[in-house]
Amino acid sequence: MTTAGVEPAAAAAYDVLRRQDPELAEVVLGEFDRQSTSLQLIAAENFTSRAVLTALGSPLANKYAEGYPGARHHGGCELVDVAERIATDRAKALFGADHANVQSHSGSSAVLAAYAALLRPGDTVLAMGLPYGGHLTHGSPANFSGRWFDFVGYGLDPESGLIDYDQVRALARTHRPKAIVCGSIAYPRHIDYAAFRDVADDVGACLIADAAHPMGLVAGGAAPSPVPYADVVCATTHKVLRGPRGGMILCRGDLAERVDRAVFPFTQGGAQMHTIAAKAVAFGEAATPAFTAYAHQVVANARVLAAALAAEGFGVSTGGTDTHLVLVDPAPHGVDAHVARGRLAAAGLVLDTCALPDADGRGLRLGTAAVTTQGMGEGEMARVAALFAAAVREEDNVRGEVRELAGRFPPYPAAETPVAGPL
Ligand SMILES: *Cc1c(COP(=O)(O)O)cnc(C)c1O
Repeated sequence: MTTAGVEPAAAAAYDVLRRQDPELAEVVLGEFDRQSTSLQLIAAENFTSRAVLTALGSPLANKYAEGYPGARHHGGCELVDVAERIATDRAKALFGADHANVQSHSGSSAVLAAYAALLRPGDTVLAMGLPYGGHLTHGSPANFSGRWFDFVGYGLDPESGLIDYDQVRALARTHRPKAIVCGSIAYPRHIDYAAFRDVADDVGACLIADAAHPMGLVAGGAAPSPVPYADVVCATTHKVLRGPRGGMILCRGDLAERVDRAVFPFTQGGAQMHTIAAKAVAFGEAATPAFTAYAHQVVANARVLAAALAAEGFGVSTGGTDTHLVLVDPAPHGVDAHVARGRLAAAGLVLDTCALPDADGRGLRLGTAAVTTQGMGEGEMARVAALFAAAVREEDNVRGEVRELAGRFPPYPAAETPVAGPL
């Protein structure tokens, strides 16, 4: 076996696509160009390594593998079994967990499986309310969770924007939930998992941590880990963790069988072995000193970005951040979040709107995971904040300056660019 020629082969693969299906090639290459010439400040996004992309685009994508290593419903699984064992072993070592299931197709699928493992339809669950940053799977009426369980929502302190642990305890004592969910799509501060564990023990509930956002920071030692406190931890592998799009579940040993059966066969079919192999690659990367440095740089960058945006006159929720997330209120500049997002997008600054902790009005959610992967540091974050303010004020030529900045930090440097050249 040899890796000689793999890079040319990757470029050749794009040529094959271009020749066979120019219409689709235009989309793929155009998206690569979009990602390379604008700034991805969507807090849930990142750039995987070339190695992760290679595993994703490998022939493991062809393999059917229902079940678990050593107990599959299909033949020919000897090698993909090795891939899944490597992925679970690396996940357990990385996070210090008794058990890991790496088959969840997404973060939402992981949460669905966690509920399936621990709850019955009709059970009461206490989670962050959706207007404050709870995920759709935390009780939205448009999601299975809101239909099948009885969700009670906790809020955030309107002054500080922080979780009010006394309110969580009071709601838990009143509603006696079967499970408490901690985790959010937009909480910029560390979560006190020990405090949640204490409340859960107080009312006999189990604790589910939905750590989809901070799990990459946890891997790099830049955020506290929910693993010692939660019965089950759900996460995505594609946010700060920088792996392929997908989910995973970590749990105590005594829950391993329930969790595994909740993923397959209860909520999913065949495992996606190319993605699982790519997760293994990402977990390997996340165990390196370079990733530890990356995770700390993500937080340092977010702190500078938050401070610089505050200096530009924007409201910054909780006054700053402990993580990759920054929540910004553009109201002091006389625009609402939707208008601001449109102006920012026109300038090539790509981000989301989100709820703000006072829950009346929307803000902008930014994250530093992707730009940090590109190699940007604190100096560039100050520049991003200046460009952000200029874009909101609709100044001239911000798009050109964003393009210039992005061009200096290619997400896939020339030697590993997945595209041979322009169409
Ligand atoms: C991103 C996220 C999810 C869902 O992940 P998907 O892969 O989009 O399904 C679930 N919970 C939280 C808290 C998240 O941030």
